[in-house]
Amino acid sequence: MVKIFIDPGHGGSDSGATGNGLLEKNLTLQISVMIRDMLSQYQNTEVKMSRTTDVFVPLKERTDSANEWGAEFLLSVHINAFNGAASGYEDYIFPGAAGAAVTYQNIIHEEVLKETGFSDRGKKQGNLHMLRESRMPALLTENGFIDNASDAAKLKQQAYIERIAQGHVNGLVRAFNLKEKTPKPPYWDGVEMKQGQIGRISILKRINLWKRDANNRLTFVRILQPGERYRVYGYDTLYGGQYNVGSGYWITNMDGYIKYETPSKEMLQRTEEYYNS
Ligand SMILES: [Zn+2]
Repeated sequence: MVKIFIDPGHGGSDSGATGNGLLEKNLTLQISVMIRDMLSQYQNTEVKMSRTTDVFVPLKERTDSANEWGAEFLLSVHINAFNGAASGYEDYIFPGAAGAAVTYQNIIHEEVLKETGFSDRGKKQGNLHMLRESRMPALLTENGFIDNASDAAKLKQQAYIERIAQGHVNGLVRAFNLKEKTPKPPYWDGVEMKQGQIGRISILKRINLWKRDANNRLTFVRILQPGERYRVYGYDTLYGGQYNVGSGYWITNMDGYIKYETPSKEMLQRTEEYYNS
């Protein structure tokens, strides 16, 4: 499980930077929630946020929460301000940070710029609380200048906010080698694979369908007709060998009466992934 801590900068009584009718705390929350939602499409990825609403959370509480949770990475999302005199994107790691923090900064920096088209203000280092007090690699991103008319015009567009989030997600996907969840269960010859399915039986000649009770005693249910197909969830050697076709029903393995097939290993793996991710 990859544990990613997302920290929307500021909140509540701390609005962060302001300008052009925008508040930093609202933009950072919008971007962070989008990042979280986009990451929910990936396998084995867990996200925790320092806040999900417009509330004030002290910086210490934020890093304590990331540290206690055991996050693998901390991403702090901000918007810049500089008296209207600057524009573009920059990000920060702790001064002298090495290894993973540098790698993640390189990757996320590149992906955010690629997705947003922000002008590149560089990969920077800063002695900031979120970077200093977190025990895991951490990155703080500054996504445009709220007091710059041209950046603010972009930040007012939902589609642009989405691109900022997407850029961060693309970076995280690359940095942590995240794999997308299988969107649908695989289909085997047009029939959906079910959880735990290992194969299927085609009826060739009329044969009995049995139900087993808790003590594996058989009760006759009905006669199955040639051409019918059933999903198979298991096999055991009772009664000369029987296939488990689900819900307590069993079909005896009689040569010439049934045909048993298994899907490809790849399909079984995708089935497992779909139901277990
Ligand atoms: Zn900020």
